[in-house]
Parts: sequence; structure tokens; C-alpha cells
Amino acid sequence: MSQRKLFVTTALPYANGNFHIGHIMEYIQADAWVRAQRMQGNQVNFVGADDAPGAPIMIAAEKAGKTPQQFVADIAAGRKPYLDGFHIAFDNWSNTDSPENHTLSQQIYLDLKAAGFIETRTIEQFFDPEKNMFLPDRFIKGECPRCHAKDQYGDNCEVCSSVYAPPT
Ligand SMILES: [Zn+2]
Repeated sequence: MSQRKLFVTTALPYANGNFHIGHIMEYIQADAWVRAQRMQGNQVNFVGADDAPGAPIMIAAEKAGKTPQQFVADIAAGRKPYLDGFHIAFDNWSNTDSPENHTLSQQIYLDLKAAGFIETRTIEQFFDPEKNMFLPDRFIKGECPRCHAKDQYGDNCEVCSSVYAPPT
């Protein structure tokens, strides 16, 4: 049988909260499969990464009084003893906010733009002049315009299941 070259990854853990049993189950399954492939003589690259940027991380970091980068670093440090304890060995662990990922993502975007696959449109979005940033839907809370439930996120109502763009 010829040797297979395999690339294996797990769902990237979203770094807005601590490691939990749901994470370790997937890693054990992937690690067992990777070991079985190697025992059959196949070549495996087993990689993972922290899924770092995003509104839930920014919100959790702000609550914890940390920068998003520090928050993600602390979550990542808390995971290691669990991976080590279960003998789960990734060949490489990275971060979606890494310089390599920035460079590659930007190159993919620029290549698509140069090939004419990306068009520019004007959109309306809320802006926070104090923080000097555009606000994702998760940062906007208020009354649902349809069922008038209080304290609902800007993109959907968890009471009546309406989905909408924030009012402008
Ligand atoms: Zn509603």
C-alpha cells in the first residue's frame, strides 16, 4: 500500500472561554485517528490553532480587563495542561491572528481582488466614536422591534426568533 499524506485538523477552538470537556472529546478522537494512520505508515500533519479575533472575544476580554491578545494568550495557556495530560500531540499549534495568517489571508484577498472576484459596495454600520470602531451586531443590544422583548442582540431576537439588521 502506498503511503498517504494527510492533513488533519480539529474545529479551531474559539478562544472566548476556558477549555472544557467538549473540546477534549474532539481532540481525543482526532489524536487517536492520527496515531492509527501513523501506525499504518501514513504521513500525517496534525495541526490546530486558536480562533482568535471576533466580537465575543472582545466582549469577554473587556469584561476581564485584558486586551484581546492577552485574553487569548491566557486561554491558550490554560489548555496546555489538558492536552499534555491526555497525551494529545499536535505537530503545530498556531493562532488565526498570527503574522503568517495575516500575510496569507491578505494575499488571498488581493489575488481575488486582482482577478475581479471582489466588488466594493457601500454599507451602513453603527460606529462608536469613543472607542473609534465600527460595532458588530453583538455589541448592540436593545428592544426587539417586532415582539418588544428587552435586551436582545442587534442581529436577532432570542424570544421571537426574528433576524434583522440593526435599525439605522
Ligand atoms: Zn422579538
